[in-house]
Amino acid sequence: MALVLNGAPAAEALTAGLAPRVRALRERGVTPTLVILRVGAQEESRAYERAAKRACTAAGVESFTVELPESAQMDAVLHAVRSINAEPGVHGALLLRPMPFARTERAACRVLAPEKDVDGVTPASLAAVFAGEAGAFAPCTARAVLELMDYYGIDPAGKRVAVVGRSLVVGRPLAMLLTARDATVTLCHSRTRDLPGVCRGADIVVAAAGHAGLLGADCFAPGQTVIDVGTNATPEGLRGDVDFAAAQGVAAAVSPVPGGVGRVTNAVLALHTIEAAERLSKN
Ligand code: NAP
Repeated sequence: MALVLNGAPAAEALTAGLAPRVRALRERGVTPTLVILRVGAQEESRAYERAAKRACTAAGVESFTVELPESAQMDAVLHAVRSINAEPGVHGALLLRPMPFARTERAACRVLAPEKDVDGVTPASLAAVFAGEAGAFAPCTARAVLELMDYYGIDPAGKRVAVVGRSLVVGRPLAMLLTARDATVTLCHSRTRDLPGVCRGADIVVAAAGHAGLLGADCFAPGQTVIDVGTNATPEGLRGDVDFAAAQGVAAAVSPVPGGVGRVTNAVLALHTIEAAERLSKN
């Protein structure tokens, strides 16, 4: 039976390690603060918001929400983002996505100040991640995959890693982070030929495609690590992209959904907010 890579202990260890940094900030009169910008009231966004706030509270990070109505036009959303940029008491911003209008979402990501971009959505943050710059804010989920692996002592250096999904939120930045850690990465997508064969040939498989149970028994090999980023609402509840039972029967280690990468993602959000507060309060 494969080792289950639970996210909770990894998130708890990460959060515990932040305490001295938060203490040092507060001693200097700085309260690390995250603002969450939500347009509309989609339940999925609200659930993510609640989880993010819980993780912030656990880490000693203040958080509050700026809420705009579903019908908010681009001007109103960009005005809110510019206000966040200008507010000295705010160190990090999480733009909840998807926003009701894709064009507004893209514009908001361009307008957000990179130094407050704790979820790696701005072109500047992504460019820094792609350039391998130390200290770049990667999308929290991408970094969370590495934090989970690090916690369980799984070193990607020299390993063949198949990343399934090439979005700018997860797959592509994760491929860059893994490359920076000396992995040999194959970035897979919907046009990849023989996806099961590519996955079987990897030492580490990361699933981030957004299709419940996409990776089945034919995708796994003995000794592998399988990390499931997928979070898919199904009639049976939240499911990952990996057939967990199938992976558990073959691989050496597999992360569950829920309770895997998602838990760590929220802890990384708190970590990034603290990093942003440290940098901004030095200026
Ligand atoms: P996305 O933007 O829809 O991208 C999905 C990617 O998967 C695309 O590159 C797509 O390929 C690829 N793909 C889709 N079907 C495929 C198939 N049958 N075979 C191979 N590749 C396939 O999704 P996303 O935003 O990256 O999110 C991916 C998943 O991660 C979702 O379930 C999402 O809920 C989850 N997620 C979790 C967290 C967390 O913290 N746990 C955070 C963010 C996202 P093409 O490019 O060819 O279309």
